[in-house]
Amino acid sequence: MSPRETAPAASETAANRSEPLLLDGKWVRDQIFAELKPRVEKLTRAHRPPGLAVILVGNDPGSEIYVRLKIKTCGELGIYSEKITRPDSVTTGELLGIIEGLNQRTEIDGILVQTPLPAQVDKNRVLRALKPDKDVDGFHPLNVGALMENIPGPRACTPVGIMDMLRRYGIAVAGRHAVVVGRSDIVGKPVALLLLHADATVTICHSKTSNLAEECRRADILVAAIGRAHMITRDFIKPGAVIIDVGMNRKADGKLAGDVNPDDARALASAYTPVPGGVGPLTIAMLMSNTVDIAEQHLSGPCSA
Ligand code: NAP
Repeated sequence: MSPRETAPAASETAANRSEPLLLDGKWVRDQIFAELKPRVEKLTRAHRPPGLAVILVGNDPGSEIYVRLKIKTCGELGIYSEKITRPDSVTTGELLGIIEGLNQRTEIDGILVQTPLPAQVDKNRVLRALKPDKDVDGFHPLNVGALMENIPGPRACTPVGIMDMLRRYGIAVAGRHAVVVGRSDIVGKPVALLLLHADATVTICHSKTSNLAEECRRADILVAAIGRAHMITRDFIKPGAVIIDVGMNRKADGKLAGDVNPDDARALASAYTPVPGGVGPLTIAMLMSNTVDIAEQHLSGPCSA
């Protein structure tokens, strides 16, 4: 699907569509970037560019690719970025020292610690050391609490990207039954809370859920965040459901597969996200969006005068 000026709203097109609506994450990402650019330019003119620091530990090829993409995207949007690399042997203390330094630097608005971290590092201590108002990933307990309370604060990027996509495609959430498969801190739980705050009736499923297929078949909106290639098949899908496939599973041939069988989604859903090209592009878009939001807050406060 090529980028368009306006997305076809699911409600408008459902009646005269035989094919389900493909929810195009690249289109959403491009819209978000187009909206961010003038905000970055305005901040840069008036004060300085927003600043993002990314900490990368070790040589995990996946992490290296993600970090490279994040730094490149910052450059394209005019956001200042800094990559800090440490070997696999890094200690918790060393990382805490780096974060403390970044917390103090006024030109750095957001700090991201790329995960996974090596086993000897206390991940919770590291993530909790971030100043909550520089926590671009929304993982700090204070920001998780803000999400729970539905008060402003940085939100986890993938979940907030999913909500943004639903909004831009005009997919109604209020009053509908959403089923989220997965209860991780970075996807399942936050997306369930965001759907709840948007007035969906939410069921959260996980590996111990009985009758998973039956639960999923009750979903008007089904979010799969499991990490098992093509586990969600036609038995799990209510005809006409909206399917959001968060899964990114690397197959033996190196290609990406979602958690949902795409043929079954195409056959039964009213709208669905492809893999790749669905949820994936939203995560980086929301990381940029969080960085700009935080920079605007930093630069509009009394210290910016
Ligand atoms: P995670 O931390 O491993 O959590 C997976 C969740 O799925 C857990 O809650 C687990 O249940 C549940 N689960 C596992 N097997 C199940 C089964 N057979 N039946 C029902 N539930 C099952 O993974 P995650 O970090 O949330 O990521 C999930 C997927 O999304 C992965 O493929 C990941 O790569 C992808 N992802 C994509 C993006 C993106 O930008 N597109 C961002 C983040 C993650 P228990 O809690 O009971 O173990």
